[in-house]
Amino acid sequence: MDEFQVWLNCLVIFCVIWACLWLQQQYVKYQREQEFKKYTYYPINGQYRHYFPKKKGQRKNAKQSPQKQQKCYPQSKTESPKKNEPELKLDFQEYIKIHEYVSKNLLISKKNLQKLGFPYYERKNLKSVKINPTKYNRAKKMWVAEGEKKRICCRCQMKFRVDWNGKNANEKCVHHPLRKVFDEATFQDKHPCCNRNIGKPGCITNNLHVFDQLCVSVLKDFTVAPEVADIFELKSVAIFAFDCEMVYTDQGPALARLSVVDWFGKLFLDVRVRPSGILLDPNTRFSGLTARDVENAQDTSETCREKLFEIINQDSILVGHSLECDLKALRLSHNRIVDTSLLFQTGRNKPSLRYLAQSILGKSIQEDRKNKFGHDSEEDARTCIELLRYYIENNS
Ligand SMILES: [Zn+2]
Ligand SMILES: [Zn+2]
Repeated sequence: MDEFQVWLNCLVIFCVIWACLWLQQQYVKYQREQEFKKYTYYPINGQYRHYFPKKKGQRKNAKQSPQKQQKCYPQSKTESPKKNEPELKLDFQEYIKIHEYVSKNLLISKKNLQKLGFPYYERKNLKSVKINPTKYNRAKKMWVAEGEKKRICCRCQMKFRVDWNGKNANEKCVHHPLRKVFDEATFQDKHPCCNRNIGKPGCITNNLHVFDQLCVSVLKDFTVAPEVADIFELKSVAIFAFDCEMVYTDQGPALARLSVVDWFGKLFLDVRVRPSGILLDPNTRFSGLTARDVENAQDTSETCREKLFEIINQDSILVGHSLECDLKALRLSHNRIVDTSLLFQTGRNKPSLRYLAQSILGKSIQEDRKNKFGHDSEEDARTCIELLRYYIENNS
């Protein structure tokens, strides 16, 4: 066999290997697309919408000046939702474009995640996460040492001691359930729950104080989503919005419900969680859950996290409103985050989800209705994804 033939054989073998790899890639891509197609047939508010800019050249920097963003609010009421727009199915290629846009322009940088109070791992200590105080909670004592009995009630601000089961005997918690708001008629701050002025005694009396402080040992309970198993995994291009509901236990605030909604607004996961501690208050007004709901829940926070890890990996994009609280509740550290409270922030303080839903999407959420009380994590998660879609439509 001469030298030429040896080279030719090598070339043929190389080409065959290359072709096999290419075919395999195409096959996985095809599989991923098929999988994607299975769950795209869920309409958004009864219809599909074209949620991506048509002209690529017109893209602007995602970081808009506050003035530019402020302009969005009055426009929004007339512009969204467009009910008569023709139905458009979103295909895989288009979805990938959206995913690329979000990854490039809207994710919070790692440095900012740390600054904003998201849980993160430092290279020198991979056993426990670090959570920096933010300007919103700096004044509060958020963490207590192990064995520490002193707590501050997050409703009436009373200092108290927890006994062996985390409860506090012989003391009533008199408080206002709703935070003060500025009353334009009298130019004074008022509690909207009872219309009383600031400083007046609370309008609700509970038997127990509740607290939102957590023991520092909790920082060791955190984890990260599974690593990317293969580059064609559909999870890697997932955009999920999620929201958690919390209840008060003797160990502090605890996860009681997790709702995950995909880009199309489809509910992907809705898990009720039974907290490991003793339930002190189901926080029905805000969680929408009753004590019975919590006690009858089938999942623990561990099984809830396992269910979440079946649908996300470290590359998945998570969307939410003040997501640092939800991640803290889930004991999860994640780097690819879009936060609607920052996306639409114009002033010093973060806008509430309820305000954004009303002013931008023209829908009212978190209202007490017949047979429904308090927040609904499914509705909140869906609102986040709708806000993100609105943002992409108007800012890209
Ligand atoms: Zn209290
Ligand atoms: Zn009140």
